Amino acid sequence: MVFVDIFVIIYALILGSFFNVVAIRFLKKESVIFPPSQCPHCNHKLSIFDLFPVLSYLFLKGKCRYCKTVISPLYPFGELLTAVSFFYIYKSIGVSLELIPALILTILLIISVLTDIREHLILDKVTLPMLGLLAITRLFIGSEPFWYYLLGGIAGFSLLFLIAIVSKGGMGGGDIKLYAAIGITLGPSLTAMSLVLASFVGAIGGLFLMMIGKVKRGQPVAFGPSILIGTIIAYTYGEEIWKWYISFW
Ligand SMILES: [Zn+2]
Repeated sequence: MVFVDIFVIIYALILGSFFNVVAIRFLKKESVIFPPSQCPHCNHKLSIFDLFPVLSYLFLKGKCRYCKTVISPLYPFGELLTAVSFFYIYKSIGVSLELIPALILTILLIISVLTDIREHLILDKVTLPMLGLLAITRLFIGSEPFWYYLLGGIAGFSLLFLIAIVSKGGMGGGDIKLYAAIGITLGPSLTAMSLVLASFVGAIGGLFLMMIGKVKRGQPVAFGPSILIGTIIAYTYGEEIWKWYISFW
């Protein structure tokens, strides 16, 4: 099985590099296919040797081979994030039909993190097609009936919608639609847990960023990364966490 594990990691690294391109070009409203990858500073077309996930970045010491401009660490971050998320999902869910909605949601979450940390945006152009795809998938795959997942989608949407109203703009429209997609994949109870965990991670992460001086008090912090962590934990360990929690009462 080690061979399969390595294959999953390499494949996910390459996909991660593609998700970076999708995030950057969708934000700029450019085509994903054309033009081929180039340095954003000197516009030199990148060769195959510049495009090895993570390794090229390390080998080039984070600088463009041609003009020596610093390459954003967000590139290897996106690749590593994809590798870690895919490997974790694959290991905890295993080879089963459930892996299909799991991976579609993971892709949506990763691209949302990548657009959110770059420009504080979670794009409809990514969320809506994936939401549709997840709804179709849930018609055929899942241990619960379809209405349960549909209820999850409605719950996710309404919860975030309420938070958006109460927080007066603290939560964007992108987050609301993203939670509809999470809801239709996880169902209502795990979606609620995902939100609790995401808020927890967000609070700790925000505090940490303030302590190391990366953000100032009151400055908005991208919620996307916390949503990804909270959702993946709720999805894979939600049932256990719930059992553990009620054992206290
Ligand atoms: Zn360059």
